This record gives sequence, C-alpha cells and structure tokens, in this order.
Amino acid sequence: MKKISVLGSTGSIGVNTLDVAERNPNQFKIVALAGGNNIEVLAKQINKFQPKLVSVLNPENIDPLRKALLGTSPEILSGEEGAIAVASIEEADMVVSAIVGGAGLAPTFAAIQKGKDIALANKETLVIAGEVVLREAKGKCKIIPVDSEHSAILQALNGENTKRIKKIILTASGGPFRTFSLDQMEEITVSQALKHPNWSMGPKITIDSATMMNKGLEYIEAKWLFGLETPVEIVVHPQSIVHSMVEFVDTSIMAQLGIPDMRVPIAYAMSYPDRLEADLPSLDFAKLARLDFEAPDYVKFPCLKLAFRALETGHTMPAILNAANEIAVQGFLDEKIPFKEISELIKATMDNHESQPVNNIEDVLKADRWAREEATKLLAVPH
Ligand code: NAD
Ligand code: MG
Repeated sequence: MKKISVLGSTGSIGVNTLDVAERNPNQFKIVALAGGNNIEVLAKQINKFQPKLVSVLNPENIDPLRKALLGTSPEILSGEEGAIAVASIEEADMVVSAIVGGAGLAPTFAAIQKGKDIALANKETLVIAGEVVLREAKGKCKIIPVDSEHSAILQALNGENTKRIKKIILTASGGPFRTFSLDQMEEITVSQALKHPNWSMGPKITIDSATMMNKGLEYIEAKWLFGLETPVEIVVHPQSIVHSMVEFVDTSIMAQLGIPDMRVPIAYAMSYPDRLEADLPSLDFAKLARLDFEAPDYVKFPCLKLAFRALETGHTMPAILNAANEIAVQGFLDEKIPFKEISELIKATMDNHESQPVNNIEDVLKADRWAREEATKLLAVPH
C-alpha cells in the first residue's frame, strides 16, 4: 500500500489523482491533502478519503471547512506553511505535486528534502529551479513526470540505453488557435482561449496551451528530466493521441499513444514502474482514421522561442520567463491585456532582467519575486 499526499487536490490533476486512488483502494492510501479555496470540493474529498492532515490556502476557510466534515477531524493548516506540512508529512511515500504555478515550488522542494518520491504535474517547479531541484533529489527520491508528454518519453525509454537517443520529439496539440490567421489572433477572447480542443484542464495551463507557452515550459521540463544535451524537437499533432516520441541513433522511433485522459499518465506515475489496470476505453484506430503532424508556427506563437531563449540564457532566466508568464496570463484572464500582449509582456520582462547565477532555492525565489513585480509594473503601463 503506497501512502500518498496530494498538493492541489481540488484542481484538475488533483481530482483525477483521487479518482485513480479511489479506483485502486488496495494500492493507495491518501494521507494528506492540500487544496486552495474550494472548500466544498475539499470537504467532500476529506469525507471520502479521511486524510490525517489537510491544508487550505486561506486561514479564514479553516472553520467553514471543519463545519463541513462528517465523522472525521483531520488537523487543518493553511497557507504555504500548511502546503509544506502536507508535502512533508512523515507517513507519505509519494507526493503528487499538482498545485498550479510557482506556488508549487516550495512545497514540492520540501517533499524532496524529506526524500518523498514525487509524481510531478507542477512542471513550473522544474522550469523555475530545475538544477537546484534535481541536485536535491539526487540519490534521495524519484521524480516521475505526470505531464502526458514526459510520461510518454519515460515509457518510450523503458529498457533503452539513454546514450543511444538521437532526439526527443515533443508533441503539441497546437491549441485552439492553430488554424487562426495573424489577423484573427488580434481578436481572441478569454472564453475562446479557455476552450481547449482535446484536454480539460485548469485555466492557467489552458491559456498556456493557447499561447503554446505550455510547450515551451514542457521543452524546459524535458531538458531537465532527460538531459540538457538531448535535442528536443516540437511537432504539432492536433489529435493529441501520440503523446510524444523518442528517436534513437538508428532512426527507430518509439512513440506512446493513448486516449487523451490524464488519469493514464497520473496512474503510471503513481504506480511506476508497474502498470495499473484502467477501466477506460481503448483507442479505436478505425474510428480515429488519421493522425496529423505539422511544424509549429513560431510567428503566431512567439512564446515558444521565449522559452528556448530562457533555457539557453540559463541561471535565473527560466524563473523570469515563468513568473512573467503567470502575471501575463492572469492579466489576460482579467481582461487587462489582449491575448497577443501575453508574449510581449514576458519578452519585456526578460529584456529588463540580467540573468544571475543560481546557487540555491532562495536565489530562484528572489528572481521569481522580482519578475512578478516587474511584469506587474509593465502590465500597469497604459497602452
Ligand atoms: P488547477 O487550476 O485545476 O488546480 C490547481 C490546484 O492548486 C487547485 O487545487 C488549487 O486550489 C491549488 N492552488 C492554486 N494556488 C495555490 C496555492 N498558492 N497554494 C496552494 N494550492 C494552490 O490546475 P491543473 O490544471 O490541475 O494544473 C496543476 C498543475 O499540473 C500545473 O502545474 C499544470 O501545468 C500541470 N498539468 C496539468 C495538466 C492537466 O491536464 N490539467 C496536464 C499536465 C500538467
Ligand atoms: Mg503536457
């Protein structure tokens, strides 16, 4: 029985994680949950899974949450400290890291320091602090990706000699604006951007998919997970059936395919290297009929190149990219800037930053705070 702690339990990945746990009661026990402010969902989760420790974002939600509990009284904490306690809880063997954004870094890092295996959905952790995080994890715990693409790459590498990799082929759906003209890109509304063609996800990653920054972040995530020297090529594949591929030196390519359902990569990360039986429909090739591939459009989706630049510059720059992106995405969701200005705001923040060496997690968090302030200032400039 693997004991699991879930960070971000009320979100899209969190809910799917608990679904996997519920379907496999002999494999997993949920020992702690950290949610945000969705007390109703969190209370239902607590009543069902009876964890020992719980955390909410806002301390004012502790009392209402306690009142909504039936026949169970876990310890309830709040804020970042609470999430860190959930991540560090003695009983947990594995922490599912599914808070969204830079807020996921500190709790995930705390879990690594305690030697917990990490099922990593929070790709931002590796984008912001890849080097520091991997150094801390080395010899202490496993970091297993939940992201469908990275799960696919991990599966394609099963039993292979990693010295024989020629390149990683990272697939991207292309998002809802893949076929839009540059003119149409000027008129994008929030509700259009929130409709992803294949995946149902939280709002931040859905906007990241629409700008293709999600693929930029995943490019950085792939480099940290599978080797900075390994070439990573991005290929647009609108059906989201081939979740990613690895080409070897002999030109053979291993791909992992499946229906687009996050419970599959989540379950794989939770049971790795074993596989769990899933009560999900099989892929129907005859119905699918075709799989399409095309090159990404770097003019329409400038966020991709910003991500390449951030990794190439290195040091604090990926943290700047990530933080500026979070401010820009929120600015777009709040209708303060048009879609097109998301990439412009990130670029301007990066242009104003001189990349600094990163020695520890504090260096990264300092850069993260600077970029949030800088991007917020730039966002407020009338245009
Ligand atoms: P979401 O918005 O649906 O859920 C986020 C969760 O984090 C919620 O439980 C929320 O309450 C909690 N949260 C937010 N801010 C917090 C804070 N400051 N402190 C504590 N908790 C906080 O997001 P999601 O779509 O589930 O994505 C979560 C992570 O997984 C992201 O990093 C995303 O990139 C990654 N991911 C998601 C998917 C997907 O299909 N949704 C796929 C791959 C990777
Ligand atoms: Mg992904």
